[in-house]
Amino acid sequence: MKKLILVIALFITQQITAQNSSEQNIIIITTDGFRWQELFTGADPAIMNQSHFVADTCLCKQLFGGQSPIERRQKLLPFFWSVIAKEGIIAGNRLYKNEVNVANAYKISYPGYQELLTGFIPGRLNPNWMVNSKRATILEKLNQNESYAGKVAAFASWSVIPYIIRAKHTNLPINAGFDPIESNANPMADLLNQVFDSVPMTGNTRNDLITYLAAKSYLQKNHPKVLFLGFGETDEFAHQGKYDQYLCKARQFDGLLMDLWYFIQSDPFYKNNTTLFITTNHGRGCTSQNWKSHGFWVKGSGEIWSAMIGTGIAPLGELLTPTKTYLYQIAMQIADVTGLTGFLHQKEEVGATMLSKNKTERIKENTTMVPVTFQENSSN
Ligand SMILES: [Zn+2]
Repeated sequence: MKKLILVIALFITQQITAQNSSEQNIIIITTDGFRWQELFTGADPAIMNQSHFVADTCLCKQLFGGQSPIERRQKLLPFFWSVIAKEGIIAGNRLYKNEVNVANAYKISYPGYQELLTGFIPGRLNPNWMVNSKRATILEKLNQNESYAGKVAAFASWSVIPYIIRAKHTNLPINAGFDPIESNANPMADLLNQVFDSVPMTGNTRNDLITYLAAKSYLQKNHPKVLFLGFGETDEFAHQGKYDQYLCKARQFDGLLMDLWYFIQSDPFYKNNTTLFITTNHGRGCTSQNWKSHGFWVKGSGEIWSAMIGTGIAPLGELLTPTKTYLYQIAMQIADVTGLTGFLHQKEEVGATMLSKNKTERIKENTTMVPVTFQENSSN
């Protein structure tokens, strides 16, 4: 079994790194706290039938129900299952022991994004405060790289993201939370700001649709080579216990991915030289009662998923073989795809940290290979 896991990890890595190039464009897309359970099996009938989680259980069943998990997931996420599953890779179906995990102990938002974007496992907890991260992200490192300097941007619904990517002292252009859209960088700014002003602003997360339209308009005008696009409403509605709205936002997320992919494949700047890395920053509770919550005390919160599509990604589809990978490895994959050598040092440190716990095994020494597959006896 171990041999098989290694072969698969090697195969994926070779497929990703086969076209290493500083010409490669990268888009990292997240939807906060979206569970692997819905990605791989669609809407959960056990939750969908509970009237305190769903305003109209009949209509919700009509929209997202189905006889089988395959039918339900196709209904919920048609772009994932009709396009990414054929042209890209979808990892994290634990029914086949294909596991993607967060490695940090906390399993809440800030450390999740930190792990994803820095390639490190956060040791100290930031409980989602607006405090600058101490660690450089892959975005910051790429912005310091000759091939990508001045061509990195970020759009996010959650207002804490600028602190995780240290936007102020790295001068990375970011629009997040309730920031107005800048008109000099964005042809749709006036319209979006008008819509923005008319939408009630509560909490720290703005409407994902506004985030997306602002980002797409920025892509069309400025053609950044690296973009972080962070959506937040899946987590917001889950915390509120509104499973129907959580599903609607997941469906919307899938539609926005489809729209983005269509734009990329029809824009000469991005077509056939862009790779999308798609994931979430943490999982949630795994039962029909605790799905609303997440954190180190909620079982299932460390269980996530990831997907990739675009240049250099082999069309392996849904991975159905037992493997175990981690959220922080995505930053390493991006470093490899973009040829960012400065980031490899961090990767070695992570490897060393994990090895020192004596739980893990590097696939191969003295290479720049990712993903590194660790073998553990117990799950999160
Ligand atoms: Zn949350």
